[in-house]
Amino acid sequence: LAVAPEGALLTAEDRHLEDRRRRVQLENALRRALDSGDFQVQYQPIIDLTSGEIVKAEALVRWEDPEVGRVPPDVFVPLAEQLGQIHVITDLVMREALREARRASVTLRRPLRIAVNLSPNDLNAPDFMDRLHRLMCEHPDAAQHLTFEVTESGALVNLEQTTRHLTTLRQWGFGLALDDFGTGHSALSVLQHLPIHHLKLDRTFVWGIEGNARQQVLTGAVMELAARLNVDVIAEGIETATHEAILRGMGCGLGQGYLYSRPHADPDWAALDGWPNVS
Ligand code: C2E
Ligand code: CA
Ligand code: CA
Ligand code: CA
Repeated sequence: LAVAPEGALLTAEDRHLEDRRRRVQLENALRRALDSGDFQVQYQPIIDLTSGEIVKAEALVRWEDPEVGRVPPDVFVPLAEQLGQIHVITDLVMREALREARRASVTLRRPLRIAVNLSPNDLNAPDFMDRLHRLMCEHPDAAQHLTFEVTESGALVNLEQTTRHLTTLRQWGFGLALDDFGTGHSALSVLQHLPIHHLKLDRTFVWGIEGNARQQVLTGAVMELAARLNVDVIAEGIETATHEAILRGMGCGLGQGYLYSRPHADPDWAALDGWPNVS
């Protein structure tokens, strides 16, 4: 039992009220941020594991409220979904990512795509394709600079419609990635339907791989499957040179993680490019 300021013991009911109060405060703060578009975007490079070159990046949204402080996206993204307002964040991140992709392409002197995370609600919003079409009319280079990351569970809400939407997006020239691969329940059937370019291997497959033979067999099998389906694998959460070496040895082409860079608001693209490979 926690101790209340007056020294009295907090009952379960007190704690429930306290949680409830905090949630309302968070919700109100988030509504204000959604009204004013007060979010930041950070970028994390995705690396070619052989050459060390940056081949892509992922946009990750950030929110810091003056009252409630910094809130992780794992908390506020689902809350924005519940409020029916995730499209505000998605639109903001898409536009910011496009700007950053243009800037990075100039610095690196080659076209760079930035991946934007879509939530299930984005994919299933009736006006989603209209919004993207509008973005492309305003910014004809949007499709060449953006990739969308969708999760398996998001795709499964309405697999038929998602497949249709993604097929159109691919025709328009957007990149497509299946996020958090391996964490869901029916990964293989989704792979069969979705017209994706990349599969992002969830970091739970990466962490501890050096000491786990079964995990290596599983990860190796995913690599083989992806190669046969002509889908590139991006390994997430690469933190050590050992992770990198094992994954590269399994034929994994691309990776992302703290070994290369944490997410940054204003990355020095040129300095991060060509990471000296430990081989
Ligand atoms: P995710 O899409 O799987 O994003 C990868 C997460 O792993 C990010 O956390 C990133 O900072 C973290 N990460 C990258 N490399 C490493 C590493 O080597 N070690 C460790 N420990 N972590 C690493 P973040 O930024 O906190 O985002 C968490 C989740 O929030 C994301 O998971 C994604 O599902 C969601 N999210 C983030 N930004 C957006 C967004 O703009 N829109 C939507 N809908 N969701 C977002
Ligand atoms: Ca992602
Ligand atoms: Ca992921
Ligand atoms: Ca910036």
